[in-house]
Amino acid sequence: MSVPKKRSATRRRKLRASHHALKKTKTTTCPKCEKPCLPHTACKNCGYYKGRDVLGLEAKMDKKAKKSLQKKQEKEKLEKTDKEMAQK
Ligand SMILES: [Zn+2]
Repeated sequence: MSVPKKRSATRRRKLRASHHALKKTKTTTCPKCEKPCLPHTACKNCGYYKGRDVLGLEAKMDKKAKKSLQKKQEKEKLEKTDKEMAQK
């Protein structure tokens, strides 16, 4: 392994490190379940992308899980509408 000939000056080291900061991942909200998901990828929560089930998560679920998920989504929608009404 090669060894650096001279140690880098503090200014030079800090200038280089100024580009090493981590960036916050950008997310969008899923139009179906309205949870945050990565843009241009299928939603990890519901498996939908561009309005259709791409990952097939709903097909793999059994009837009980499907029903409970539907109930959850309806509840969340109702709560959202209630909040919006309260703001007005
Ligand atoms: Zn989703």
